[in-house]
Amino acid sequence: MAETLKLTHRSADIRLEPGTSKPCLKCKWGIEDPTDPSKGQCIGSRTKMGSIWKRLIKDYYNMTCDKFEEGEVYFRDHV
Ligand code: SF4
Repeated sequence: MAETLKLTHRSADIRLEPGTSKPCLKCKWGIEDPTDPSKGQCIGSRTKMGSIWKRLIKDYYNMTCDKFEEGEVYFRDHV
């Protein structure tokens, strides 16, 4: 009980969490790969310059991160 949980990972880290209820698939920031829907890209991060920093999602159904937000990104259809 006295142990303190150390949160050492960066909040933006994508991690594999099999069976997660918050997969990139359902996340506002995820875009599926048009040629392979089991993979995708995350557009939820921005560089310091403000441009979108795409991150590769190796398993679109089972990966998640702390930035998960359910919903559709409004400009998804225009990407
Ligand atoms: S913000 Fe996180 S959960 Fe959402 S698509 Fe990107 S990596 Fe996946």
